[in-house]
Amino acid sequence: MPDPSFARPVAAFAPLPPAALRLALDATALAANWRALDRMSGAASAGAAVKADAYGLGAARVVPVLAQAGCRDWFVAHWGEVPDVLAHVPPASIHVLHGPMNAADVAYAQATGVTPVLNSLAQVRRWREAGGGRCDLMVDTGINRLGLPLADLGDPALAGLDIDCCISHLASADEDVAQNAQQLARFQAVCAQIPAQRYSLANSAGIALGARWHADVTRPGIALYGGIVRSELAGVIAQVAHPQAAVIQRRQLQPGDLVGYNATFTADRPICAAVVALGYADGYLRTWSGKGEFRWRGSTLPVIGRVSMDMTIVDATSAPDLAEGDWLDVAYDLPEAAKISGLSQYELLTLLGRRFLRD
Ligand SMILES: *Cc1c(COP(=O)(O)O)cnc(C)c1O
Repeated sequence: MPDPSFARPVAAFAPLPPAALRLALDATALAANWRALDRMSGAASAGAAVKADAYGLGAARVVPVLAQAGCRDWFVAHWGEVPDVLAHVPPASIHVLHGPMNAADVAYAQATGVTPVLNSLAQVRRWREAGGGRCDLMVDTGINRLGLPLADLGDPALAGLDIDCCISHLASADEDVAQNAQQLARFQAVCAQIPAQRYSLANSAGIALGARWHADVTRPGIALYGGIVRSELAGVIAQVAHPQAAVIQRRQLQPGDLVGYNATFTADRPICAAVVALGYADGYLRTWSGKGEFRWRGSTLPVIGRVSMDMTIVDATSAPDLAEGDWLDVAYDLPEAAKISGLSQYELLTLLGRRFLRD
């Protein structure tokens, strides 16, 4: 039997001490990135992909900053992601990419007024049978992921549908390949066939491809958050997410001392090590073992030994004044970090876990 004396309201416990991990957000850089992408979008206006809690940065922080900058269209994947965005922007401006898969999704869309993206004839029929209303339509032009196949576009179920955005998604816009022109040509045919208020094709990389891909609304995600997925974005897009971790112990190593699980590092000289409160449970994966770097007041502190679940050990010899409780910056410039870690810029952001304070 559980001991009922433990069943106290949360408020009866003491307030939590400060977190030892924080994900600092450079709001100025975030707003500047959106403005740059909106400018690069030419006659089209840039929206924002804020799915996956704004790529892990925290929708509650990101959405107000982008709304203030002028963003008017918001793209989430799951219905469960709507409330965090709905708290800050008008319902119809939120587009739910996964679409209404059942009656509960339809009822939620109609009750809230958010815009469902219809991805199949089945979703179109489900939406219309429940009374329909304004929606988006996703058409597949070659990624073979979500969206109506081109062969379905003549179906009578589409006639008279009240479409805000007619959308398609590029598969390889971060590369210079023939598929980009092929998807564009198919999308232009879709635009000629499907009446809609607005048309939308480009993600971050698609914006950099050029004006022909821009249509009316662009949907940048990763570049808003500091990702550089094409060379055109270098020098334009700035880092937004700055993970920081506290030192929880310092220790002196002697030559021959072994460091971390499986002793993958042996000190070859006296080393002042520091133990940092960041591990693979926080998304700082073991790939960073022996490769990652932390920064403190101009010193660079390399990771030594294996990253463990809750801790990483760094060589802090170059920072003799560093003490327990001091905060280190994780070297996390996305293009650079992707090269070193082998992870994608998208994974680097969305991996960062719930122990990071996002405020
Ligand atoms: C995630 C997503 C985007 C944003 O893509 P980025 O490469 O992050 O700019 C745009 N459109 C759709 C349909 C998406 O799923």
